[in-house]
Amino acid sequence: MFTKILIANRGEIALRIQRACREMGIKTVVVYSTADKEAKYVKLADEAVCIGPPASTLSYLSMPAIISAAEVTDAEAIHPGYGFLSENADFAERVEKSGFAFIGPRAESIRLMGDKVSAKRAMIKAGVPCVPGSEGALPNDDPKEIIATAKRVGYPVIIKAAGGGGGRGMRVVHTEAALLNAVNMTKEEAGRAFGNPEVYMEKFLEKPRHVEIQILADTHGNAVWLGERDCSMQRRHQKVIEEAPAPGIDRRLIAKIGERCAEACRKIGYRGAGTFEFLYEDGEFFFIEMNTRVQVEHPVTEMITGIDIVQEQIRIAAGLKLAYRQKEIIFRGHAIECRLNAEDPFKFTPSPGRIGSWHMPGGPGIRVDSHAYSGYVVPAHYDSMIGKLIAYGNTREQAIKRMQIALSEIAIDGITTNVPLHRELMMDPKFIEGGTSIHYLEQRLEAQA
Ligand code: ADP
Repeated sequence: MFTKILIANRGEIALRIQRACREMGIKTVVVYSTADKEAKYVKLADEAVCIGPPASTLSYLSMPAIISAAEVTDAEAIHPGYGFLSENADFAERVEKSGFAFIGPRAESIRLMGDKVSAKRAMIKAGVPCVPGSEGALPNDDPKEIIATAKRVGYPVIIKAAGGGGGRGMRVVHTEAALLNAVNMTKEEAGRAFGNPEVYMEKFLEKPRHVEIQILADTHGNAVWLGERDCSMQRRHQKVIEEAPAPGIDRRLIAKIGERCAEACRKIGYRGAGTFEFLYEDGEFFFIEMNTRVQVEHPVTEMITGIDIVQEQIRIAAGLKLAYRQKEIIFRGHAIECRLNAEDPFKFTPSPGRIGSWHMPGGPGIRVDSHAYSGYVVPAHYDSMIGKLIAYGNTREQAIKRMQIALSEIAIDGITTNVPLHRELMMDPKFIEGGTSIHYLEQRLEAQA
């Protein structure tokens, strides 16, 4: 096992990784930008290295700065967290070439899955069902072919960037008249934002749910699936609430798709933790993309399986065999996660600044993953998530009840947060019923405005 790991991230996930390392008796090196020098995990780290100014391009996205921090501190492995460099194949490659273990998949797998066109191709080959759409990328100079593809797929369609992420680089098209213009605009945006102008087409599903499968794979050819998460409560394609298991879906169907995902991992020689994202509509699963890192919403899976996903990532990177066989993975109870953001709860404008008092809830089944505290300054430079509140119960009803109570206990002042939105959603009859589509939250917000 490693004796020292460098954490190449910030915020709640930096603290989460640090907690995993401490439990395993591994020393941690934290890297930070000058905007984060007062962060809790920086103070708690065995060693901390400043890697640059607030702008992430000059700090958390700077490969040379991070690799030299690992060199000067004699770290043996680098955990990239999520976001930033976590899905950058060149980074994974440079980390390994510099002699460190990358706590994540091989660069080759990141590259394969980072391009959604090649990811879909690989999944079709592995027998994973995909959203119907264009075969590969749309051609550059064949408008007739694009029009014919849309006709075959059937309107509405969605044009998506092959290199897209974070809910950006997507455009829904309802009519042939709007098609070519939409393709060109998405291409242009994709080129600018992701450095890859390639786009592809999918059927735009009207009322799907977002259901994803968590997997773990070791370097000895073993892979298991850890159940599913329902992340349908979204705004602008960004998740707001996640839960596990997904309410109302036949367990046999989940087991079947879970096994397909594990098998796909074995086929492509995948290593580490990963998530297969699907849209689920009318009893069918359609693959949309794979995330090759730990996800924000991983705690809900940890709560219902008792498996520490971050510790498993570390064990796998150290070359150990998976400690569980599929039949030893037992799902128990229900877990819900609310993402806590420093933003206006209904207008969504960011609200960085100094937190006055910070009171977090507790009690049975409540978990808080957050790096914030009273007096902490939320920097304006990064995303607005300041923590996650997770509630576990024996049943979904109990998890919701506990979440309602926890949300009522939260008291944060100095900044504005989205806690009031979560309080409303936990009382929403449709959420309580379970199984809302990915469009539900936006439609609800629109009706309120
Ligand atoms: P990203 O990498 O940016 O997260 P995804 O491909 O995972 O992009 O899609 C993000 C979200 O966009 C999905 O959870 C879903 O809400 C919506 N979406 C993507 N593809 C489709 C589709 N074919 N039909 C309807 N909604 C879609």
